Amino acid sequence: MKQADGEFVWPPARVDDSPLAPGEDRGTEHPIEQKQQPERGWWSAIERAWLCPVAVPVRERLEIAGCDGEALGACCDRCATTVGAGEEDEFGCASCRDRKVPWDRAVRLGAYEDELREVILEVKFTRFRSAGMALGRMLGEVLRNAGAPSEGVVVVPIPMSTRRRLVRGVDHTAAIGRGVASELGAPMRMALTRRHRPSQRTVSMSARAGNVSGTMRLRRGAGAGIKGRTVVLVDDVRTSGATLRAASSSIFLGGDGCRPAAIWVATVGVTPVRGRMDLAGLARIRTAAK
Ligand SMILES: [Zn+2]
Repeated sequence: MKQADGEFVWPPARVDDSPLAPGEDRGTEHPIEQKQQPERGWWSAIERAWLCPVAVPVRERLEIAGCDGEALGACCDRCATTVGAGEEDEFGCASCRDRKVPWDRAVRLGAYEDELREVILEVKFTRFRSAGMALGRMLGEVLRNAGAPSEGVVVVPIPMSTRRRLVRGVDHTAAIGRGVASELGAPMRMALTRRHRPSQRTVSMSARAGNVSGTMRLRRGAGAGIKGRTVVLVDDVRTSGATLRAASSSIFLGGDGCRPAAIWVATVGVTPVRGRMDLAGLARIRTAAK
């Protein structure tokens, strides 16, 4: 008997799940089953954007890619620029040797390239605090291995402007900072504030120092929390160094005389740059602070 459209029929027709013979095509003989297939497009997009980045832990991903830690001497202790064998001595490397830097020591997890770059971008744009924490803990290990003090340390993340924080939805640098603080067993202080300016990524290298200059300051009352301590400034990516320079400057110049014992700068990824770093003006910061 032929079934009319919409007519209730019981029992339902048996689903033919027998294997298909070579060349056989069952076609659209089970239209109801086909309608019940879920729409995969939006879910696949969510899986790619949200679930894949955490499907494999950050540390494991970086280990697999060989980006989980650098050999001793892979970067300069003063400016964290990549150096080759014998290119660095106690006064720094060719990029920083004849210049003063406004911090005492620079460390990094690695060069901002390959898998490390992918992970940093995911932490930056997918709002995963846990992945940021994982990166921070690895950076904390680098700091410990580099001889960071075990006591009297305060972790200060490079701040994000309120406007950018609202747009991003998460302060990923603070998440990295929490990982560093957790690994070092040190407190974290959001000691700096920042006025909104165009992203450093959108301005030319030569304009970056001017773009960030004067935009950060020490919060009122934050000087007491850094006085006599080793401040570990934490940032995600360093290219020209202008942001860390401005942050160091604000710590030295603010605080009503509450100077830190030392400043370490800890960056997850340092952009490989051919030629010399733009470190002009570093001497002025130290001189002004004295
Ligand atoms: Zn150097």
